Amino acid sequence: MKALRADAAGLGRAAALIKRGGLAAFPTETVYGLGASAFDPAAAAAIFETKGRPHFDPLIVHIADLRQLRTVAAEVPPAAARLARRFWPGPLTLVLKKRPAVPDIVTSGLPTVAVRMPAHPVAARLIKLAGPLAAPSANRFGRLSPTTAAHVLRQLGPRGVTVLDGGPASHGIESTIVAFERGKPVILRRGALPDSEIAAACGLRRVRFAAAGAKVRAPGQLKSHYAPAAPLRLINPGARTDPRGAAYLAFRRKPRGEFLASEVLSPSGDLREAAANLFSALHRLEESGARTIYAERVPARGLGLAIMDRLRRAAASR
Ligand code: AMP
Ligand code: MG
Repeated sequence: MKALRADAAGLGRAAALIKRGGLAAFPTETVYGLGASAFDPAAAAAIFETKGRPHFDPLIVHIADLRQLRTVAAEVPPAAARLARRFWPGPLTLVLKKRPAVPDIVTSGLPTVAVRMPAHPVAARLIKLAGPLAAPSANRFGRLSPTTAAHVLRQLGPRGVTVLDGGPASHGIESTIVAFERGKPVILRRGALPDSEIAAACGLRRVRFAAAGAKVRAPGQLKSHYAPAAPLRLINPGARTDPRGAAYLAFRRKPRGEFLASEVLSPSGDLREAAANLFSALHRLEESGARTIYAERVPARGLGLAIMDRLRRAAASR
Protein backbone atom coordinates (compact mmCIF):
# COMPACT_ATOMS: atom_id res chain seq x y z
CA MET A 1 0.00 0.00 0.00
CA LYS A 2 1.56 3.25 -1.05
CA ALA A 3 1.10 6.64 -2.60
CA LEU A 4 3.69 7.64 -5.20
CA ARG A 5 4.48 11.24 -6.05
CA ALA A 6 3.49 11.88 -9.65
CA ASP A 7 7.05 12.81 -10.64
CA ALA A 8 9.23 11.00 -13.17
CA ALA A 9 10.33 8.36 -10.62
CA GLY A 10 6.78 7.71 -9.37
CA LEU A 11 5.39 7.50 -12.90
CA GLY A 12 8.16 5.11 -13.87
CA ARG A 13 7.40 2.84 -10.93
CA ALA A 14 3.66 2.81 -11.57
CA ALA A 15 4.23 2.05 -15.26
CA ALA A 16 6.62 -0.79 -14.41
CA LEU A 17 4.06 -2.25 -12.01
CA ILE A 18 1.38 -2.21 -14.71
CA LYS A 19 3.71 -3.73 -17.30
CA ARG A 20 4.38 -6.61 -14.89
CA GLY A 21 0.63 -7.33 -14.75
CA GLY A 22 -0.11 -5.29 -11.64
CA LEU A 23 -2.59 -2.51 -10.91
CA ALA A 24 -2.03 1.17 -10.19
CA ALA A 25 -4.55 3.85 -9.31
CA PHE A 26 -4.17 7.21 -11.08
CA PRO A 27 -5.96 10.55 -11.27
CA THR A 28 -8.15 11.54 -14.20
CA GLU A 29 -10.14 14.73 -14.67
CA THR A 30 -13.25 12.96 -13.33
CA VAL A 31 -12.22 10.56 -10.52
CA TYR A 32 -9.26 8.33 -9.66
CA GLY A 33 -9.15 5.20 -11.84
CA LEU A 34 -7.85 1.71 -11.02
CA GLY A 35 -5.74 0.84 -14.04
CA ALA A 36 -4.34 -2.35 -15.55
CA SER A 37 -2.88 -3.09 -18.97
CA ALA A 38 -5.76 -3.20 -21.46
CA PHE A 39 -4.14 -6.27 -23.05
CA ASP A 40 -3.80 -8.43 -19.92
CA PRO A 41 -6.87 -10.56 -19.03
CA ALA A 42 -5.52 -11.64 -15.62
CA ALA A 43 -4.84 -8.02 -14.66
CA ALA A 44 -8.38 -7.08 -15.73
CA ALA A 45 -9.70 -9.89 -13.53
CA ALA A 46 -7.64 -8.46 -10.67
CA ILE A 47 -9.43 -5.11 -11.13
CA PHE A 48 -12.81 -6.74 -10.49
CA GLU A 49 -11.40 -8.74 -7.58
CA THR A 50 -9.83 -5.67 -5.97
CA LYS A 51 -13.03 -3.67 -6.33
CA GLY A 52 -15.06 -6.56 -4.95
CA ARG A 53 -17.46 -6.21 -7.88
CA PRO A 54 -20.10 -8.97 -7.84
CA HIS A 55 -20.55 -8.69 -11.60
CA PHE A 56 -18.52 -7.84 -14.68
CA ASP A 57 -18.99 -4.51 -16.40
CA PRO A 58 -17.15 -3.59 -19.57
CA LEU A 59 -14.20 -1.35 -18.74
CA ILE A 60 -13.26 1.87 -20.49
CA VAL A 61 -9.83 1.69 -22.12
CA HIS A 62 -7.80 4.85 -21.61
CA ILE A 63 -5.32 5.94 -24.26
CA ALA A 64 -2.78 8.75 -24.54
CA ASP A 65 -2.56 9.26 -28.31
CA LEU A 66 -4.02 8.20 -31.66
CA ARG A 67 -1.29 5.63 -32.23
CA GLN A 68 -2.55 3.79 -29.14
CA LEU A 69 -6.12 4.09 -30.46
CA ARG A 70 -5.13 1.95 -33.43
CA THR A 71 -3.82 -0.78 -31.12
CA VAL A 72 -7.24 -1.24 -29.46
CA ALA A 73 -9.82 -0.21 -32.10
CA ALA A 74 -10.16 -2.05 -35.41
CA GLU A 75 -12.24 0.66 -37.10
CA VAL A 76 -12.79 4.36 -36.53
CA PRO A 77 -15.82 5.62 -38.48
CA PRO A 78 -15.50 9.19 -39.84
CA ALA A 79 -17.96 10.54 -37.24
CA ALA A 80 -15.83 9.03 -34.45
CA ALA A 81 -12.69 10.59 -35.91
CA ARG A 82 -14.41 13.98 -35.96
CA LEU A 83 -15.50 13.65 -32.34
CA ALA A 84 -12.02 12.54 -31.30
CA ARG A 85 -10.43 15.53 -33.05
CA ARG A 86 -12.86 17.90 -31.42
CA PHE A 87 -13.04 16.56 -27.85
CA TRP A 88 -9.92 14.47 -27.10
CA PRO A 89 -8.26 14.66 -24.71
CA GLY A 90 -11.41 15.09 -22.64
CA PRO A 91 -14.53 13.49 -21.15
CA LEU A 92 -15.68 11.66 -24.29
CA THR A 93 -15.78 7.85 -24.60
CA LEU A 94 -16.16 6.27 -28.04
CA VAL A 95 -17.46 2.73 -28.50
CA LEU A 96 -15.60 1.18 -31.44
CA LYS A 97 -15.09 -2.23 -33.01
CA LYS A 98 -12.35 -3.85 -30.94
CA ARG A 99 -9.11 -5.44 -32.03
CA PRO A 100 -8.62 -9.09 -31.01
CA ALA A 101 -5.72 -8.01 -28.77
CA VAL A 102 -8.24 -6.51 -26.33
CA PRO A 103 -9.29 -9.43 -24.12
CA ASP A 104 -12.96 -10.32 -23.75
CA ILE A 105 -13.00 -9.72 -20.00
CA VAL A 106 -12.25 -6.04 -20.69
CA THR A 107 -15.33 -5.70 -22.92
CA SER A 108 -17.54 -8.27 -21.13
CA GLY A 109 -17.49 -10.36 -24.27
CA LEU A 110 -18.69 -7.55 -26.56
CA PRO A 111 -17.16 -7.08 -30.01
CA THR A 112 -16.72 -3.39 -29.21
CA VAL A 113 -14.38 -1.51 -26.90
CA ALA A 114 -15.06 1.78 -25.11
CA VAL A 115 -12.10 4.18 -25.52
CA ARG A 116 -11.32 7.51 -23.92
CA MET A 117 -8.32 9.86 -23.96
CA PRO A 118 -8.20 11.56 -20.54
CA ALA A 119 -7.01 15.15 -20.26
CA HIS A 120 -5.36 14.85 -16.85
CA PRO A 121 -1.59 15.27 -17.40
CA VAL A 122 -0.66 12.52 -14.89
CA ALA A 123 -3.01 10.06 -16.58
CA ALA A 124 -1.64 11.01 -20.00
CA ARG A 125 1.97 10.51 -18.92
CA LEU A 126 1.27 7.20 -17.22
CA ILE A 127 -0.57 5.84 -20.27
CA LYS A 128 2.24 6.96 -22.60
CA LEU A 129 4.66 4.94 -20.47
CA ALA A 130 2.52 1.90 -19.62
CA GLY A 131 0.36 1.62 -22.76
CA PRO A 132 -3.46 1.63 -22.95
CA LEU A 133 -5.11 1.10 -19.54
CA ALA A 134 -8.42 -0.54 -18.72
CA ALA A 135 -9.76 1.36 -15.74
CA PRO A 136 -12.96 1.78 -13.73
CA SER A 137 -13.17 4.10 -10.72
CA ALA A 138 -10.73 3.19 -7.93
CA ASN A 139 -13.27 2.38 -5.23
CA ARG A 140 -14.64 -0.74 -3.57
CA PHE A 141 -17.95 -1.87 -5.04
CA GLY A 142 -20.84 0.30 -3.85
CA ARG A 143 -18.63 2.90 -2.17
CA LEU A 144 -18.02 6.50 -3.15
CA SER A 145 -15.85 7.28 -6.15
CA PRO A 146 -12.48 8.63 -4.99
CA THR A 147 -11.36 12.12 -5.89
CA THR A 148 -8.10 12.11 -3.90
CA ALA A 149 -5.24 9.66 -3.43
CA ALA A 150 -6.19 9.43 0.26
CA HIS A 151 -9.70 8.23 -0.67
CA VAL A 152 -8.14 5.52 -2.82
CA LEU A 153 -5.79 4.40 -0.06
CA ARG A 154 -8.55 4.25 2.51
CA GLN A 155 -10.57 1.88 0.34
CA LEU A 156 -7.95 -0.04 -1.61
CA GLY A 157 -4.75 0.42 0.38
CA PRO A 158 -5.47 -2.67 2.48
CA ARG A 159 -5.65 -4.57 -0.80
CA GLY A 160 -2.13 -3.55 -1.71
CA VAL A 161 -3.03 -0.99 -4.35
CA THR A 162 -0.43 1.64 -5.27
CA VAL A 163 -1.75 5.09 -6.15
CA LEU A 164 -0.13 7.90 -8.10
CA ASP A 165 -0.93 11.04 -6.18
CA GLY A 166 -1.89 13.77 -8.63
CA GLY A 167 -3.78 15.93 -6.15
CA PRO A 168 -7.56 16.26 -6.02
CA ALA A 169 -9.40 15.20 -9.17
CA SER A 170 -11.83 17.89 -10.25
CA HIS A 171 -15.28 16.61 -9.32
CA GLY A 172 -16.19 16.34 -12.98
CA ILE A 173 -19.17 14.51 -14.35
CA GLU A 174 -18.59 11.17 -16.05
CA SER A 175 -17.63 10.98 -19.70
CA THR A 176 -20.30 11.04 -22.39
CA ILE A 177 -20.37 7.64 -24.12
CA VAL A 178 -21.03 7.57 -27.86
CA ALA A 179 -21.44 4.47 -30.03
CA PHE A 180 -21.92 4.30 -33.81
CA GLU A 181 -24.68 2.60 -35.73
CA ARG A 182 -24.16 2.46 -39.48
CA GLY A 183 -21.73 5.34 -39.06
CA LYS A 184 -24.18 7.49 -37.08
CA PRO A 185 -23.43 8.56 -33.50
CA VAL A 186 -25.72 7.25 -30.75
CA ILE A 187 -25.33 8.51 -27.18
CA LEU A 188 -25.32 5.59 -24.73
CA ARG A 189 -24.65 7.58 -21.57
CA ARG A 190 -25.14 11.28 -21.06
CA GLY A 191 -22.16 12.92 -19.39
CA ALA A 192 -19.91 15.94 -19.40
CA LEU A 193 -20.50 16.73 -23.09
CA PRO A 194 -24.10 17.68 -23.96
CA ASP A 195 -25.97 16.05 -26.85
CA SER A 196 -25.98 19.34 -28.77
CA GLU A 197 -22.17 19.52 -28.84
CA ILE A 198 -21.90 15.94 -30.05
CA ALA A 199 -24.43 16.69 -32.80
CA ALA A 200 -22.73 19.92 -33.85
CA ALA A 201 -19.31 18.26 -34.09
CA CYS A 202 -20.80 15.62 -36.39
CA GLY A 203 -22.62 18.19 -38.53
CA LEU A 204 -26.02 16.84 -37.41
CA ARG A 205 -29.06 18.62 -36.05
CA ARG A 206 -29.59 16.02 -33.35
CA VAL A 207 -28.14 12.78 -32.06
CA ARG A 208 -30.12 9.76 -30.97
CA PHE A 209 -30.00 8.77 -27.32
CA ALA A 210 -30.31 5.04 -26.69
CA ALA A 211 -31.98 4.75 -23.33
CA ALA A 212 -31.67 1.60 -21.24
CA GLY A 213 -33.41 -1.31 -22.89
CA ALA A 214 -33.21 0.24 -26.34
CA LYS A 215 -32.03 -1.77 -29.32
CA VAL A 216 -28.43 -0.64 -29.19
CA ARG A 217 -26.36 -2.87 -26.99
CA ALA A 218 -25.32 -0.74 -24.07
CA PRO A 219 -23.73 -2.91 -21.44
CA GLY A 220 -24.06 -1.62 -17.94
CA GLN A 221 -27.47 -0.38 -19.06
CA LEU A 222 -29.02 -3.59 -20.30
CA LYS A 223 -29.70 -6.49 -17.98
CA SER A 224 -28.05 -9.08 -20.15
CA HIS A 225 -24.69 -7.77 -21.43
CA TYR A 226 -23.95 -10.57 -23.74
CA ALA A 227 -25.60 -13.93 -24.03
CA PRO A 228 -24.12 -16.91 -25.84
CA ALA A 229 -26.12 -17.94 -28.89
CA ALA A 230 -26.89 -21.37 -27.37
CA PRO A 231 -28.92 -21.74 -24.17
CA LEU A 232 -26.72 -22.20 -21.14
CA ARG A 233 -27.53 -24.69 -18.38
CA LEU A 234 -25.98 -24.31 -14.96
CA ILE A 235 -24.97 -27.58 -13.33
CA ASN A 236 -22.92 -28.82 -10.40
CA PRO A 237 -19.48 -30.19 -11.30
CA GLY A 238 -19.79 -33.83 -12.27
CA ALA A 239 -23.58 -33.75 -12.74
CA ARG A 240 -25.11 -35.97 -15.41
CA THR A 241 -25.25 -34.41 -18.87
CA ASP A 242 -26.09 -35.40 -22.41
CA PRO A 243 -23.05 -34.58 -24.55
CA ARG A 244 -24.84 -34.91 -27.89
CA GLY A 245 -24.77 -31.55 -29.66
CA ALA A 246 -23.59 -29.92 -26.44
CA ALA A 247 -20.55 -27.99 -25.23
CA TYR A 248 -19.19 -27.93 -21.69
CA LEU A 249 -17.70 -25.17 -19.55
CA ALA A 250 -15.77 -26.77 -16.68
CA PHE A 251 -14.27 -25.03 -13.69
CA ARG A 252 -11.30 -27.33 -12.98
CA ARG A 253 -11.55 -30.65 -14.83
CA LYS A 254 -12.34 -31.60 -18.40
CA PRO A 255 -15.64 -33.48 -18.62
CA ARG A 256 -15.92 -37.05 -19.78
CA GLY A 257 -18.07 -37.67 -22.83
CA GLU A 258 -17.96 -36.62 -26.44
CA PHE A 259 -18.88 -32.97 -26.21
CA LEU A 260 -18.63 -30.83 -29.33
CA ALA A 261 -16.24 -28.63 -27.39
CA SER A 262 -15.17 -28.12 -23.81
CA GLU A 263 -13.21 -25.52 -21.89
CA VAL A 264 -11.57 -25.60 -18.47
CA LEU A 265 -11.52 -22.24 -16.71
CA SER A 266 -8.76 -22.97 -14.20
CA PRO A 267 -7.19 -26.40 -13.57
CA SER A 268 -5.80 -25.15 -10.25
CA GLY A 269 -9.16 -23.73 -9.13
CA ASP A 270 -7.92 -20.14 -9.18
CA LEU A 271 -10.95 -17.84 -9.46
CA ARG A 272 -8.91 -14.98 -10.92
CA GLU A 273 -7.64 -17.20 -13.72
CA ALA A 274 -11.18 -18.49 -14.22
CA ALA A 275 -12.54 -14.94 -14.48
CA ALA A 276 -9.81 -13.98 -16.95
CA ASN A 277 -10.76 -16.93 -19.19
CA LEU A 278 -14.54 -16.80 -18.84
CA PHE A 279 -15.64 -14.69 -21.79
CA SER A 280 -13.17 -16.07 -24.31
CA ALA A 281 -14.09 -19.62 -23.27
CA LEU A 282 -17.79 -18.86 -23.79
CA HIS A 283 -17.01 -17.44 -27.21
CA ARG A 284 -15.17 -20.60 -28.24
CA LEU A 285 -17.95 -22.85 -26.97
CA GLU A 286 -20.48 -20.79 -28.86
CA GLU A 287 -18.42 -21.11 -32.03
CA SER A 288 -18.58 -24.91 -31.73
CA GLY A 289 -22.18 -24.65 -32.89
CA ALA A 290 -23.46 -26.45 -29.79
CA ARG A 291 -27.21 -26.38 -29.15
CA THR A 292 -26.68 -26.41 -25.37
CA ILE A 293 -23.81 -25.20 -23.24
CA TYR A 294 -23.47 -26.84 -19.82
CA ALA A 295 -21.69 -24.58 -17.36
CA GLU A 296 -20.41 -25.75 -13.98
CA ARG A 297 -21.10 -23.64 -10.93
CA VAL A 298 -17.98 -22.13 -9.39
CA PRO A 299 -17.41 -21.37 -5.68
CA ALA A 300 -19.46 -18.32 -4.69
CA ARG A 301 -16.70 -16.25 -3.10
CA GLY A 302 -14.47 -13.45 -4.36
CA LEU A 303 -14.48 -13.36 -8.15
CA GLY A 304 -16.63 -16.50 -8.10
CA LEU A 305 -19.60 -14.22 -7.31
CA ALA A 306 -19.02 -12.21 -10.48
CA ILE A 307 -18.56 -15.38 -12.54
CA MET A 308 -21.77 -16.86 -11.15
CA ASP A 309 -23.63 -13.61 -11.80
CA ARG A 310 -22.49 -13.72 -15.41
CA LEU A 311 -23.42 -17.39 -15.84
CA ARG A 312 -26.83 -16.87 -14.24
CA ARG A 313 -27.61 -14.01 -16.60
CA ALA A 314 -26.56 -16.09 -19.57
CA ALA A 315 -28.69 -18.98 -18.31
CA ALA A 316 -31.69 -16.68 -17.76
CA SER A 317 -31.49 -14.94 -21.11
CA ARG A 318 -33.15 -17.82 -22.97
P1 AMP B 1 -17.32 4.02 -16.12
O1 AMP B 1 -18.46 3.69 -15.18
O2 AMP B 1 -17.14 5.50 -16.35
O3 AMP B 1 -16.06 3.29 -15.79
O4 AMP B 1 -17.78 3.47 -17.53
C1 AMP B 1 -18.08 2.12 -17.75
C2 AMP B 1 -19.29 2.05 -18.59
O5 AMP B 1 -18.96 2.26 -19.96
C3 AMP B 1 -19.93 0.68 -18.61
O6 AMP B 1 -20.73 0.43 -17.49
C4 AMP B 1 -20.75 0.77 -19.89
O7 AMP B 1 -21.97 1.44 -19.67
C5 AMP B 1 -19.88 1.62 -20.79
N1 AMP B 1 -19.16 0.77 -21.75
C6 AMP B 1 -17.95 0.22 -21.60
N2 AMP B 1 -17.63 -0.54 -22.67
C7 AMP B 1 -18.66 -0.45 -23.53
C8 AMP B 1 -18.94 -1.02 -24.82
N3 AMP B 1 -18.08 -1.83 -25.44
N4 AMP B 1 -20.13 -0.73 -25.38
C9 AMP B 1 -21.00 0.10 -24.77
N5 AMP B 1 -20.80 0.66 -23.57
C10 AMP B 1 -19.64 0.39 -22.94
MG1 MG C 1 -17.64 3.41 -10.70
